[in-house]
Amino acid sequence: MELLKQKIRDEGIVLNEQVLKVDTFLNHQIDAELMLAIGQVFSRLFAENGVTKVLTIESSGIAPGVMTAMQMGVPLLFARKRKSLTLQEGLYTEKIYSFTKREESEVSVSKKFLAPDDRILIIDDFLANGEAALGMARIVQQAGAQVSGIGIVIEKSFQPGRQKLLELGYRVESLARVATLANNQVTFVEDNVD
Ligand code: 5GP
Repeated sequence: MELLKQKIRDEGIVLNEQVLKVDTFLNHQIDAELMLAIGQVFSRLFAENGVTKVLTIESSGIAPGVMTAMQMGVPLLFARKRKSLTLQEGLYTEKIYSFTKREESEVSVSKKFLAPDDRILIIDDFLANGEAALGMARIVQQAGAQVSGIGIVIEKSFQPGRQKLLELGYRVESLARVATLANNQVTFVEDNVD
């Protein structure tokens, strides 16, 4: 997606060879127009998949997730990282190792929001080692529902997440694929999804 790649070139900060910071439009401040454009592309890419619900993880997946859900006319469900007082039982829970925080956390989704006949589109902001996407896919499996596909805003293609997901048979669509963050700059894989 050229618009997204240009935004990353203009505003992305390479923190080190592994981590890209995009807090001007995705991870802190949010560029709502760009999120809408992202939602339109995901909606088109997965239009034929009979998606009944979009699933993401709080908090950075919510903006692209809600725009995708709006375009598809389905609800957005986000996995919560902490168990709230009002949400204690009746949960599907999975452990996810966080790439950026370097710690394991538990994420949960209420059982009442996932049914066996659901076809779930998983959306996330970044794909690195695939832990977040795999955790969400396991939650969908726990509910007996189906994963229709996985939509990623920024994939770091030099990390193993994409390969792991493909090996498990999931369809993965990433709007910007980063080949390397070497030499303090972002180089993209040259395949364009628009
Ligand atoms: P994974 O679970 O695929 O290893 O990592 C994906 C998750 O880690 C995403 O939900 C995202 O929050 C975070 N993440 C991974 N790599 C990056 C990165 O380079 N920059 C930012 N801002 N977040 C990342």
